[in-house]
Amino acid sequence: MKTLNGIKFFSSPLFGEGVVHGFLTRLGGVSAPPYESLNFDARDTDLKENVEENRSRFFNTFGVERLMTVSQVHGSTVFRLNGDLPGALPEADAIITNTNGAAIGMLTADCLPVLIHDPVNRAIGAVHAGWKGTALGVTINTVKEMGRAYGSKPGDLIAALGPAIGPCCYKVGENVMEEFLKNWRGLDSFVPLEDGLRLDLGAENLSQLLYMGVPEKNISGSAPCTSCTRDFFSYRRDNGRTGRQLSFIMLKDM
Ligand SMILES: [Zn+2]
Repeated sequence: MKTLNGIKFFSSPLFGEGVVHGFLTRLGGVSAPPYESLNFDARDTDLKENVEENRSRFFNTFGVERLMTVSQVHGSTVFRLNGDLPGALPEADAIITNTNGAAIGMLTADCLPVLIHDPVNRAIGAVHAGWKGTALGVTINTVKEMGRAYGSKPGDLIAALGPAIGPCCYKVGENVMEEFLKNWRGLDSFVPLEDGLRLDLGAENLSQLLYMGVPEKNISGSAPCTSCTRDFFSYRRDNGRTGRQLSFIMLKDM
């Protein structure tokens, strides 16, 4: 874990000079319990001024001027950002762009954030993958859309799987498995234990990247479990009364 201006975050060693990125923890902001402290979600009952202060700390710390997020709906729609940020947040669970200096981000509290960089065609993607989006193949869609929009080849892509709830803590029902089967997903990421099924979101999204042809050596993972580690907001551990941490990536002006 790294610290900059009090903000604690994780990063991938695989991303090169072309991008700024980070998987932020909940540490280093101003929000009060149960949103303490680096909460980016203004929809809930956290004070707007606290979320604004958290955002400005993030902007100052990482040299970001514009951040695009989306209204995340647990689907598999990929939003393509061209130049200016849209006035209202579109409903989507992934963003791709080749616009310099515009950070794209996902807000999570257990769901898996995935960041992608195409250093050859200079394009990036950010994905929000909960179990529903994962079942629908949101990560596959994002790689496909980067290909359509920017000519990105999977073999050139660099990807990082961020902190999400791990199979250690993610008990799921049979309905989740049924949804995977309905969408022709494999079931390798389900871990059957005596007290029920566990889902490994990281493993399934890793297989989606590999299936698309992203080389394994270009993918980093091994982020801590959001439920086991108090440094993260965890929807499940905190019974829904919690904030959202930010994961972001931005193409640097060159
Ligand atoms: Zn855990």
